[in-house]
Amino acid sequence: MQNGRILRIEKLSSFDGDGLRTVVFLKGCPLRCQWCSTPESQASATDFGVVRRKCGQCFTCVQTCPENAIHYNADIDRFVTDMARCSDCRQCVAECPNGARTAYGYTATVAEILKEIAKDSIFYYHSGGGVTISGGEPFVQADFLKDLLRGCLLQGINTAVETCGQAAWDHIAPVLPYIDTLFYDLKHLDDDAHRRLTGVGNRRILENLARIDAQQRPQRLIVRMPVIPGLNDGEENLRAVGEFCRKLTRVAEIQLLPYHRLGMETYNTLCRPYPLAQLASGSEDELRRKAAILEEIGLTARVGSF
Ligand code: SF4
Ligand code: SF4
Repeated sequence: MQNGRILRIEKLSSFDGDGLRTVVFLKGCPLRCQWCSTPESQASATDFGVVRRKCGQCFTCVQTCPENAIHYNADIDRFVTDMARCSDCRQCVAECPNGARTAYGYTATVAEILKEIAKDSIFYYHSGGGVTISGGEPFVQADFLKDLLRGCLLQGINTAVETCGQAAWDHIAPVLPYIDTLFYDLKHLDDDAHRRLTGVGNRRILENLARIDAQQRPQRLIVRMPVIPGLNDGEENLRAVGEFCRKLTRVAEIQLLPYHRLGMETYNTLCRPYPLAQLASGSEDELRRKAAILEEIGLTARVGSF
């Protein structure tokens, strides 16, 4: 059985698929979207954050660290962790008297995660829910993902996966038989714009979507587009996304996801600048107009997820 790198597990979500769902967030992502709301999921390795308003600057973490990996940077008035020295022993987290220090990420076996998932079986049964694997990018840990999903299906638990699509086909194909619903992100149809906004081009993402469309599984394929004001929400891009999906045969619907700034506090905790600090959220009416454009093209579109 595989070990996986997990960010966290959230219970009773109603936004990540049918019914009530347990969402397992995995660590590691090949994209660096400017609007990413879970920056703590991007690295496969553990990240350390400090909640500034809780930190009493007592220096306990600095003194506790056996690797001398933490130092106080007076220029930014923050405690910084040198990850090249860190052995991930977590003593700094355990000893922080204010609970200000957080470790993002841990390693777990498939059996351990399945045990956690099974605790919510009664909710899946009554709500028609199941498990959603999110990230980060789940296909980064393809073997772990496959074993985890197979374990869910063996217990009769419905499965969903959220992907950015940037993965080797050899990692994606063996996992598809174990996915009931696949949520597939499309951000921009222009390769240069995609690279500018996410750090990678879109060629592989589009190719993978077309290949998935030709498979028997997943049972249901849903495209999601995060709509980021001024960055990818122009009509030209929207129509390009719509036309690409229209040529596919199995896209059940396109979900337009509104931009939000929920990740801002986490950027602060991680001591990283938030790339879109000045950007305001778009309006619900505007998203509805965009959904109508996709409907005109002949697609089923909705604002939001579930
Ligand atoms: S131990 Fe906690 S409260 Fe003390 S300096 Fe470190 S993060 Fe801040
Ligand atoms: S996890 Fe251990 S090695 Fe890493 S910064 Fe904290 S105390 Fe130091």
